Amino acid sequence: MIKLAFALSHALTFPAQEDIYLEVIGDPQTAKAQIFYAPHENEAVANKYVAEKIKKFGGALIIMRQQGTRNITLHINKNKVYVDPNRIFTKAGIRSSIKKLNPNLDPNSTVFRLAVERAFQLGKFVLTQLQEKSNAPTWVALHNNTEGFEGDNNQGRGDVSIYRYQAKLSKGASFLIDVNVGYDQDEDNLFYVTKPEDFELMRKYHWNVVLQNPVVTTDPKEDDGSLSVYAQMHNIRYINIEAERQDVDNLGKNNTETQQEMIDFIYYVTNSHKSNASP
Ligand SMILES: [Zn+2]
Repeated sequence: MIKLAFALSHALTFPAQEDIYLEVIGDPQTAKAQIFYAPHENEAVANKYVAEKIKKFGGALIIMRQQGTRNITLHINKNKVYVDPNRIFTKAGIRSSIKKLNPNLDPNSTVFRLAVERAFQLGKFVLTQLQEKSNAPTWVALHNNTEGFEGDNNQGRGDVSIYRYQAKLSKGASFLIDVNVGYDQDEDNLFYVTKPEDFELMRKYHWNVVLQNPVVTTDPKEDDGSLSVYAQMHNIRYINIEAERQDVDNLGKNNTETQQEMIDFIYYVTNSHKSNASP
């Protein structure tokens, strides 16, 4: 059943499996500076504020939808196969996501192979909206995390906290180049970017920010199939907003306000620093 959360949105049904759809707020063709994507349906804290901005300024927010959960369920020959919708942009990433979430599924089985194909099609379905339908040079992903870090140990990226990124960098993790711990920021509110210029600007404004290492495009071990890796492979300017779910963070600050400031900052960055977008 198609359920839309926003009044002026429409649904795009995934042709290969009709219970999966994208809720599209606004129109990708009017996205000139940035286009927003929310892969995890249960991470929706900033969606409403972004929708208000789109109403005012144009552009689009694409939300992956199925059953309200983090992972997508693929129905393959009466089998249920789970995949993380932020691991569907490369075949290698899809394979490791499906292996991890379906430990009892034989990677040499037909079901596994068909699931990889379908997940790859789903990734392409999203990329069509972000890439072919829009002229936006910047992709902005919206995620939420919980206090501290998640239990997702997929190459450590699910462990969301600026301190954990800092620890990983000092231990020699190769998927990131630089980490800035902003002054007076909750550890769970951070930007994750692909362009050094964005990293520098966010550092200058005292945000928590992580810069991804371009090595993710050449080291197969670092290819997790996420949108950040795909963006780096195609030299697309990518900014992920990671924000804590709860309203009041552990510094006693109103988290909703912080997230709105983060989104306003993205508008400032993508509209006033467009030159960064050119390769
Ligand atoms: Zn997420």
